[in-house]
Parts: sequence; C-alpha cells; structure tokens
Amino acid sequence: MRYSQYFIPTVKETPADAEVISHQLMLRAGMIRKVAAGVYNYLPLGLRSIRKVEQIVREEMNRAGAIELLMPMVTPAELWQESGRWEFYGKELLRFKDRKDGEFCLGPTHEEVITDIVRREIRSYRQLPINLYQIQTKFRDEIRPRFGLMRGREFIMKDAYSFDVDSSAADISYDKMYQAYRRIFERCGLNFRAVEADTGSIGGSSSHEFMVLADSGEDAILSCSACDYAANVEKAESKPFPESTGELLPKEAVATPDRKTIEEVASFLGVHPDQTVKALIVVADDEPVMALVRGDHDLNELKLKNFLGAAELEMATDEVYVKASGGPVGFAGPSGVTVRVIADQAIQGMCNFIIGGNAKDLHFRNANHSRDFDVTAFADIRTVVSGDPCPRCSSGAMEVWRGIEVGHVFKLGTKYSEKLKATYLDADGKEQVIFMGCYGIGVGRSVAACIEQNHDANGIIFPIPIAPFHCIVSALSVKEEPVVKASEDIYNRLASAGVEVLLDDRDERPGFKFKDADLIGIPLRIVVGAKNLTEGKVELKHRRSGEVELLPIDEAVARVRKLVAEALAQ
Ligand code: ATP
Ligand code: MG
Repeated sequence: MRYSQYFIPTVKETPADAEVISHQLMLRAGMIRKVAAGVYNYLPLGLRSIRKVEQIVREEMNRAGAIELLMPMVTPAELWQESGRWEFYGKELLRFKDRKDGEFCLGPTHEEVITDIVRREIRSYRQLPINLYQIQTKFRDEIRPRFGLMRGREFIMKDAYSFDVDSSAADISYDKMYQAYRRIFERCGLNFRAVEADTGSIGGSSSHEFMVLADSGEDAILSCSACDYAANVEKAESKPFPESTGELLPKEAVATPDRKTIEEVASFLGVHPDQTVKALIVVADDEPVMALVRGDHDLNELKLKNFLGAAELEMATDEVYVKASGGPVGFAGPSGVTVRVIADQAIQGMCNFIIGGNAKDLHFRNANHSRDFDVTAFADIRTVVSGDPCPRCSSGAMEVWRGIEVGHVFKLGTKYSEKLKATYLDADGKEQVIFMGCYGIGVGRSVAACIEQNHDANGIIFPIPIAPFHCIVSALSVKEEPVVKASEDIYNRLASAGVEVLLDDRDERPGFKFKDADLIGIPLRIVVGAKNLTEGKVELKHRRSGEVELLPIDEAVARVRKLVAEALAQ
C-alpha cells in the first residue's frame, strides 16, 4: 500500500472528548471517527486491525470445532417474548416497529435467535454436540457509551453458542471455548487473565471473563499471589476466619453523641474499625433485610443478592431503615430486630465488638453474636480487598488489578432451551432438553484494550499479529532517484513475501513521516536515506524498543520477513 494513495487522516492534537488513551490514539491515528454517541466509522487503518482480530478469532473458533454462520441484526419481538427478555432487557434493547406495526429489536446478543434455529433443525442426539458462531454487529443502547470502541452502542462481537446432550457434555464444550479464548488473546499479543465471574441468576461457578490488564479498566479483579485463583471483585470469595475463642465480656451501653459513621464511632471509643460491626439495611424483593459486615469491610451487594436468591436488591430508603431498625439512620444494630439478619462470615471470628443500639446516640460495647443477637445466617457477603488471604491456597494474598473485559464464557444450562423448547431425542427415543453455553468476544474492544496496553508518548505500539501493517518503508526523500528506487524495491520484495507493508512515498519531511509512523504504531520501520544507501544500507527501527539497526538491504528485508513470520507463527 502506498501511503500517498491511501487514507490515514492523522491528527496532531489530542481530541478533547476522548478520556482514555486508546480512544485518543485511535482518533489521532485515523482509525475511527464518531458518527453518533457510541457509533463509529471504522476507517481503513482501524478496519485492518479489526479484521486481524476477527481472523484470529475465526481460526481459533474453527480449530475448536465451532461452525460459522450469520444471523440477522434485526430480530422479531416474538422470540424475545418467548424467552421473557422482551420485558427483562430494559432500555439497552433498541426496539422499533416496521411498516406493518410488527415489533422488532436490534440484536444485543443472539441466544433467542440461535436457539430458534436449533429447535427447528436439531432432532437427535446424533446431531449433538454442535457449536455455532458468528462475527456480527451488535447494538446495545448503553446508558453511557464512552471510551470509543471500548463501550460503544454499535459494536462488533463474536458470539458462539454450544448445544449439548447434558451438563457434563456441556462442560466439555465450555472447556474447549475456554482454551480457544486463551489462544485467541495470546495470539493477539494481549496481557490478560481469565477470572471467575458472577453468573447472577443462572447460578453455579460456570462463568469466566477474560480481562486485559489495564489501569483504565472498568472492572476490578483479584488474583492470588501464590496460586492461580483469580476472580472479578463481584465474585471473589473471602476466606472464612476461625471461630473466635475469646472470653466474652459483659455487654455495655455507651453514649455516642452524633457519632454515626464507623470511623466516628471507632475513634470516639478508641478502637480500630475492625472491632466494630456495621449494620446495613437492604431491600431484597420487597423484604427488608439487615446485613452485618465488619466495620472496615464493605458489603458486596451482588454476593448478598445471590445468597438470598433475590431478583432485585437495593439499599433501603431512610424510611425503611428506620422502620426495620427501630432507630434513626446511623445507629442500626442487630439486637432485637425482627428482620432477617445475614452476617458476613468474618463476624464469626469476632468477639466483644461494637454494634449500633437502634436508638439515637446509642451503641453497645462487648457485643457478641448468638449471646446478644440472633443471626439468621452467616455467609460470604463482603467485598474482598487487596491483602486478604487467598480462599483457595494457604500461602497467597489477594492482589487487585484493573481489567477490561474482552471476552466472556458462560454455561447457560437449560435457561433458554427450556423456555424456547429446544429438545432432542436421546438414544431411547426420549425427549430431552438441550444444554447450552454462550461465548462472546468484543472485537473492537479487544483492539482498544490492546492499545491501552501498548502505547508510549509518541503513539500506538501494535503487536505484529493485529497491527494494520507489519512494516512501513519510509523513503526519506522522494526527489532522489536512488532513494525512490531502493524504497520501491524493498517494498515490492516484502510485499511479495507476504509482509503487509506500507510505503511512505509522500513528499514530506522525514520528521513528519516518522511522527505519523510512530503514531499509527507500525511495529517495524525501514528508513531509506541517500547517505546510508551509498553503502548499500538502510535503517531498521523497532517501534517497541526504539532500537535502530543499520543493515545491508538484503539483511534488513530478511530480518523483517523473519520477525513477521515468527510473530505470526504462534
Ligand atoms: P460489560 O459488562 O462490559 O457491559 P457485558 O457483560 O455486557 O460487558 P457480554 O454480554 O458478555 O458483555 O458481551 C460479550 C463481549 O462483548 C464482552 O466481553 C465485551 O468484550 C463485548 N462488549 C459488550 N458490551 C460492549 C460494548 N458496549 N461495546 C463494545 N464491546 C462490548
Ligand atoms: Mg453490558
């Protein structure tokens, strides 16, 4: 490709409305342009990287035995009504009517459509397992589209769906996808972790998110310093404390005038917050429930919601709080309340602690569970933090990372197949429900996440496998015949060897060309200048290390070919 005839509209200034570096650099490098909030044009350079990710995804999905098809973006309301998601999905589902008043939506994901295909076409256990996937444009009317391709409204996703005869067969399909995902993100050159993720109402420990580690990530993930346990903060388990064996002291009422927060109460009473217990009132499916956590811990609402098996859970309003605790806001405690009390398991290991007294300016010292108040159940309901002991091994401590979710694998069980009646006949001719799994990868988000991890002050540093071009040949002057001739020669030799090469043949100053080359992040650059040419040499510059090698032309060509071949051979 000749730069002079190509279309790479680079920009010098940092765009004002781009908050994260990948968004800034994709705009500046001329990869994308915004059309509307969360809706983008993929310009040629951006499209090339997107297509590279798609190709890697496609190869690995095919290698894992999945089969590509393509479903429509426009999907009819009836299918969504059958699964119940027409009501459930809320405003992220963009709904509209056609000229005959038929209701439709733009597909945000395709469980319904694919299950409809399978229930019509699959009859027998002999046709299972099957895994079908597509690479397609999705639409989700995200409440806050932002960060460019990272959280768009229209975005490209690879979504795959597996269908199996039973749960253990579905586990095998899941594992194949998990392994394929590892290979995909490794091949893309990403630094990632697979973490256990919350499965919400579907239950089980059967979901993993693939997280690209980056400070700008929206997710917090925790991983053990010693073993391979890693989980999303929503899901990360805490290690139970041993039951306390301390001597129980007599409970004592203490006046705590205007001290409401844990910090205020603890410092007023001269104790560390870990010797206090805070009581929170939540409403789970219309029922007020008291949650207890150690003063220095935070309640994990999602864990509590899952423990209670609630469909909805939110913090109580002041009015409900007062009614449930019998006292003003800031003084709730577990003694004497009639609502269910769910205590975090860390409280099992505590004795003689401080609790709220359910009356203005009142707390109790030396409170103890069982003796002074009843606990409906102890459960793991707190948020794990950095430094907590690992729940799986005996030696590690949990470390916190920020991550960008680029992929998600999920065991669905029979959630959709039951609702849509996707069944098969087993070997005895008996009708059975199909077990499903679903597996998504954000293609554009993967490119953006890659840039979050791979950039410097001058621009993007693409890993070779998803770089828009592998190599750029910069002709230092297009007015000098030997330079033009040598550049063209190198360009042709690389191109015919299968290297994706961009020839910077623009009539611009060297500094200008180098700035663009750095910004768009081409991994390898061959600089052809008159002076070095007199010795038959060119410079090979490595974008990542900045290292420059002065090499005879043949050697430079051979090096580029070798580096590209090695990077693509993974
Ligand atoms: P998130 O929590 O980030 O909204 P999600 O859990 O809704 O993600 P899934 O439904 O699992 O995402 O979708 C599969 C993949 O699609 C995600 O792992 C992510 O890479 C990508 N994806 C989801 N939403 C978006 C979006 N708004 N823009 C770009 N990619 C997205
Ligand atoms: Mg989402």
